[in-house]
Amino acid sequence: MKDYHVHYYLDACAAKDMTFPNIEKRCLELGIDEISVLKHYSHSLPNGKEDWVCWHRIKENGWRKYLEEYASYIPERIKIHSGVETELVNEKGDINIPLSEQNKIDMCALSVHYMIDLDCLKMDFLLYPNLDFCPEFKNEVGYRQREEWREKVNSAGAEKMITGLANGYINAIQRFSKVKTLSHMYDGLTPLRTYLCDVDSLGESKCIELLEPLMKTAAEYGVLWELYGDRVVFERVLVRANELGVKFCATADGHMLYEGWGPLTHHNRTEDLIDRLKLNRGEVGFSR
Ligand SMILES: [Zn+2]
Ligand SMILES: [Zn+2]
Repeated sequence: MKDYHVHYYLDACAAKDMTFPNIEKRCLELGIDEISVLKHYSHSLPNGKEDWVCWHRIKENGWRKYLEEYASYIPERIKIHSGVETELVNEKGDINIPLSEQNKIDMCALSVHYMIDLDCLKMDFLLYPNLDFCPEFKNEVGYRQREEWREKVNSAGAEKMITGLANGYINAIQRFSKVKTLSHMYDGLTPLRTYLCDVDSLGESKCIELLEPLMKTAAEYGVLWELYGDRVVFERVLVRANELGVKFCATADGHMLYEGWGPLTHHNRTEDLIDRLKLNRGEVGFSR
């Protein structure tokens, strides 16, 4: 089994024992023989500061340390690739790591942690919609701003937002050869749901139609559709992507070795989902 999305102790979100030797040992126990150990890399954050909600701007010394430790660790029994988890920034497909730094690693796992700038709607909402993540805004002001954002989302419309997000992914795939996996999109609509876009009222068939250009591009470029966990709202999206040639990979988005909120132990849940939906597994082509 493969897992191209394993976190490393140098990021605050990962446990202190997520070191190369420990990760390798744990993967062997779980039957995982190829992984990517990722560093979070955010060149800039929506608020233009060092920290935002639960994300942190990359720090030069942490980045250098990661690269050095990767270079000096020789795994004995499994394959380990280097990489970052970074964000899609806008509909043009900019991603949140400069090209010069992309060239130092094997892959980028591309995530949408917060809404991208869409042509139909700029990301001007500086709170995370789930106010549990930003307790200082869990008050009247926060709720009011969130409602204002919801109105903007409603007037942009779910159809345009899905198309805009798909365009962003497509452009990033076409522009950056280090983009190898699309991370925790689930059915492709998770980031939009998080940002209060009512994609579900469009219905599953319409969503599939709007996502098909992205599916075709991912299939053409061999970019894997990463799945995490076992909950997917529109399972037929995945089935259609599979029909169009998309390959899938499972991850635990591991931040811990054994237990806690994101342990490597959960890898198998995702493998089970892939089996149940009869999806094709893919491997990252590291030569592209
Ligand atoms: Zn993530
Ligand atoms: Zn992650």
